[in-house]
Amino acid sequence: MRDRYRGILLGVAVGDALGAPIEFMRWDEIRVRYGPEGVRGYVTGPYGRAAITDDTQMTLATARGLLRAASLLASGDQELVVRSLYGAYLEWLATQDDPGQRRAPGLTCLAALRSGKMGTVERPLNDSKGCGGVMRVAPVGLALPGQPDAAFALGVRTAAITHGHPGGYLPAGSLAALLSRLVAGQELHEAVAAEAHRRELDPDTRHLLRRAMDLAQGDLPPAHAIAALGEGWTGDEALAIGVFCALRYAGSAAEEHCFRQGVLASVNHSGDSDSTGAVAGGILGAWLGESAIPPDWLADLEGRVSLVMVADGMYGAFGALTR
Ligand SMILES: [Mg+2]
Repeated sequence: MRDRYRGILLGVAVGDALGAPIEFMRWDEIRVRYGPEGVRGYVTGPYGRAAITDDTQMTLATARGLLRAASLLASGDQELVVRSLYGAYLEWLATQDDPGQRRAPGLTCLAALRSGKMGTVERPLNDSKGCGGVMRVAPVGLALPGQPDAAFALGVRTAAITHGHPGGYLPAGSLAALLSRLVAGQELHEAVAAEAHRRELDPDTRHLLRRAMDLAQGDLPPAHAIAALGEGWTGDEALAIGVFCALRYAGSAAEEHCFRQGVLASVNHSGDSDSTGAVAGGILGAWLGESAIPPDWLADLEGRVSLVMVADGMYGAFGALTR
């Protein structure tokens, strides 16, 4: 289980770092620059090589907010947990004045956090269905292992702090619930199918999740299948692309091959490569654990030591209890 805790946070960061240099490139431009299969490992981007972006920074903020509220979470009081998450996001916002820490942060997150108000489902701050709520939500699944309904509810509220459209916050609940299942040991296909049937989901997210499951069974090349799901700039598309990439390679014999191929597929397309990489990396990391992440990707990853420390802290606070 500790291997899966580390796998999620390291998987998010690895996917983010692989996708960051090509976030704003079209698929044809990626191929011209990096070859017919696109990127096959870290390439140097605007922040260097193997550098994380806002997706990982905000994921770590989510983890910190949850760790501080661990005792509240155990009591079932989500209200104060969400306050703690909001506080952690405001701390992240304060780091964004430092040019070295500014890694193309999402404008919706910046504007929402600067407003001085905390968004909720009942009192949305905007109508954004951007993927900024989905890409940072993974630790919610770690805080509530084997409790997908509670993880869904908290994931929704976590995303609604900054994103006011149901297509921005419901897929975040769905990803948190999916990771809650996987970290507790549920099988990938089973966990995805359960979330695709969740009653609270909006029609768009449900449709895209089911489409992702169908496409994973088919033989369309990954970049074409991903294009059929969208570009991942919205929450529902980012979730569906991440799910597709995890499922497509789930049958691969070796786990390291499965993680590598799935995460590479999730960044090599015309859309929001670092966020879709973070989503796919988190799902595959949850399912396969840290041991499935290629060692060369881990060796070079920015912030690896703190990611492992936070993952172990979350395992101690939330995972060890459920054993
Ligand atoms: Mg980013």
